[in-house]
Amino acid sequence: MAHLIDGKTLAAEYKAKAAAAAAALREKGVAPRLAVIIVGENPASKTYVAGKARDCAECGILSDVLALPETTGEAELLSRIAALNADAAVHGVLVQLPLPAHIDESRVIRAIAPEKDVDGFTPVNVGRMVLGEPCFLPCTPAGCIEMLRSTGQPLEGKDAVVVGRSNIVGKPMALLLTARNATVTLCHSRTENLREKCAAADILVAAVGKAGFITADMVKPGAVVIDVGINRGADGKLCGDVDFAAASEKAAYITPVPGGVGLMTRAMLMQNTVRAARLQSGL
Ligand code: NDP
Repeated sequence: MAHLIDGKTLAAEYKAKAAAAAAALREKGVAPRLAVIIVGENPASKTYVAGKARDCAECGILSDVLALPETTGEAELLSRIAALNADAAVHGVLVQLPLPAHIDESRVIRAIAPEKDVDGFTPVNVGRMVLGEPCFLPCTPAGCIEMLRSTGQPLEGKDAVVVGRSNIVGKPMALLLTARNATVTLCHSRTENLREKCAAADILVAAVGKAGFITADMVKPGAVVIDVGINRGADGKLCGDVDFAAASEKAAYITPVPGGVGLMTRAMLMQNTVRAARLQSGL
């Protein structure tokens, strides 16, 4: 039976560290502050934004939520971002995705000042990550790396398979694993022999967005399984991409959903925000 990588406990530790760092900054006269922009009424996005505001409050980080109507034009959104970029009291700027279809997401992301890009989505931060330079790492893959680290299992020399190649999860996850000397196979919807590739992985990261996609026969005995997916199962309950019950019988370590990667993603955002405040204040 696999050991559970408990996102709740781990995220609490990382949030406590962020809270301590935020308190130290406040003592030096810097109040870390995160601005979150949400456009429209997407219920999942609203839940995520509310969660981020709660985390900020818990960590002693000021937060502003700018809720704009669905009809907001791109120019208006860009000018709001420019104002936040120019506001020295704001250290992190985050635009909740997805945006309504009439807005060009990549243009909006590019408008965020790289030093305030606490999501790590701007081309400047992505480029720095590729080059292995200091940057803001995207929160979800950064959280996955910390979860892997918590197992104490080495990454070096291990075969890692990442299923899903999105810009915010799969691709950066593959890069971060490579930087830690794992040998990475990045899989996607056109991958051939996916089952075999997964079944040979020492580390398996699922970021597909399909409930129960990773079945037990795709899990190598003793593997570490990180489930990024957030889905609703047939029973309406929240679940990941991995058939958790069956995969737990074969894996050595596994993350649950809920209570896994999602919580660590949020904790990483708190860490990035405090770091942004520290860097911008020159402390
Ligand atoms: P995307 O939809 O952007 O990407 C999904 C990826 O899965 C694509 O690369 C796609 O391949 C691949 N894929 C789809 N079908 C298959 C298949 N049959 N075989 C192999 N690969 C397949 O999703 P995201 O990366 O944004 O998110 C993935 C999941 O993670 C979602 O459930 C999302 O909700 C969740 N998520 C969770 C977060 C957290 O904090 N826990 C944060 C962000 C996301 P192709 O590129 O070829 O289309």
